[in-house]
Amino acid sequence: MSIDAERFRTELLQERERVQAAIANLRESHPGTLDDEVKEVRAGSDSHVGDTATARLGREIDYTLEENSEQVLAEINAALKRIEDGTYGLCAVCDKEIAPERLEAYPWASLCIDDARKAERG
Ligand SMILES: [Zn+2]
Repeated sequence: MSIDAERFRTELLQERERVQAAIANLRESHPGTLDDEVKEVRAGSDSHVGDTATARLGREIDYTLEENSEQVLAEINAALKRIEDGTYGLCAVCDKEIAPERLEAYPWASLCIDDARKAERG
C-alpha cells in the first residue's frame, strides 16, 4: 500500500473547509430564488433587459457552482469515511488502486480512471 492516507486526510479536511465556505458564501450573496428573478426580467422595461440578463447569467453560474460544491462536499465526506474504513485509494467498482496522480488531482476520487469514464458514459 503506497498511498499516504494521512496526508490525503489533511488535504480532504482543508478542501472540505474551503468548499463549505464557498457554499455559505454563495447562499449569502443569493438568498432569493432564480424564479423570482425571471419574473423581474419579464416585468422589466426593454432598456434594462441587457443588464438583467447579464445578472441572471451570473446567477445561473453560481447555482451550478453551488450544486457542484455540494456534490464535491458529499464526495469529500465519503472519501474521509473510506480513510476510516481503510479502503481509501481503491476503486469502488474494480477494487484496484486508483492512480496516485489521479488522487493528487481529485483526493476524493472513488473510482479508477477507467471506471470513472464508464460511469460518465452511463
Ligand atoms: Zn476501477
